[in-house]
Amino acid sequence: MKIVVTVKQVPDTNAEKAFDPATKRLNRSAIENVLNPFDEYAIEEALRIKEAAGADSTVTILTMAPQKGVDIVRKALGMGADNAAMLSDEAIGGSDTMATAYLISQALKHIGFDLILTGTQSTDAINSIVPAAVAEHLGIPALTYAKKVTIADGRVEIQRETDAGYQRVSAPLPALISVTKSINEPRYPTLKGIMGAKKKEIKALSLADIGADAARFGDAGSKTWVESFTPVSARGKGTVIQAQDPVEGAKQILEFLIAKKVV
Ligand SMILES: Cc1cc2nc3c(=O)[nH]c(=O)nc-3n(C[C@H](O)[C@H](O)[C@H](O)COP(=O)(O)OP(=O)(O)OC[C@H]3O[C@@H](n4cnc5c(N)ncnc54)[C@H](O)[C@@H]3O)c2cc1C
Repeated sequence: MKIVVTVKQVPDTNAEKAFDPATKRLNRSAIENVLNPFDEYAIEEALRIKEAAGADSTVTILTMAPQKGVDIVRKALGMGADNAAMLSDEAIGGSDTMATAYLISQALKHIGFDLILTGTQSTDAINSIVPAAVAEHLGIPALTYAKKVTIADGRVEIQRETDAGYQRVSAPLPALISVTKSINEPRYPTLKGIMGAKKKEIKALSLADIGADAARFGDAGSKTWVESFTPVSARGKGTVIQAQDPVEGAKQILEFLIAKKVV
């Protein structure tokens, strides 16, 4: 079984972020980037499925990222994935979510798959749109928010996490599954894994390789754009209301909320 895990390079949540005023894009070169934490669960699940399925299964990592993204690919390979493919081209800059999903699906068509695993969301853009949009492009079932995955007889069944519990959802392979953080505990790359990752193949994909239509990605191929951006103002000092009388305290809180136009 050929399992492909899509992984995204995201800015470290603690990093100081800045937008480039000219392009209105996040200045990614100046910040520390990491493997999207949600994608670690997808990698772990893929490795477990491979281990259960036997020797002829493989796990391929796919990312669309600037060249620096090779570091997160190496981390995924260090966890135990077999090989990787990376789509990296300046012309991709400015691609919105639907353009991103188009390019990832074209790359998936190029490398081939039986099963695709993704995170439920990225920690930077947090759209949770890419998995379903990719499945739609590929014409395969999307089983989202999986907290348990079972594969048997050419079918996949998941427990789909909901606020109230879970739903049982099943579909024939090939299929795409997005996994939640409840599904497993991702392994750390071992020293042996990290050393071994250096020898594993990271295939560079070009836009020509995947047959990408220039009208469907980048600034020109995106139907949404950033009109303007405003930095979040620094959080001011909080207001502490101290009152001996609880009624008086409640009154002061109400006056404060009215002044802030919250109530
Ligand atoms: C107008 C506009 C312009 C933008 N310009 C840029 C830009 O110039 N540069 C830029 O980096 N981003 C840009 N973005 C953001 C980019 O479109 C999103 O990061 C991308 O669509 C993925 O959305 P998401 O992170 O919300 O993914 P989600 O849907 O939340 O991600 C879910 C899962 O999809 C997979 N996934 C998501 N993205 C990737 C990826 N790149 N490679 C592999 N797997 C992935 C992962 O498995 C992830 O867990 C722009 C967005 C907009 C709206």
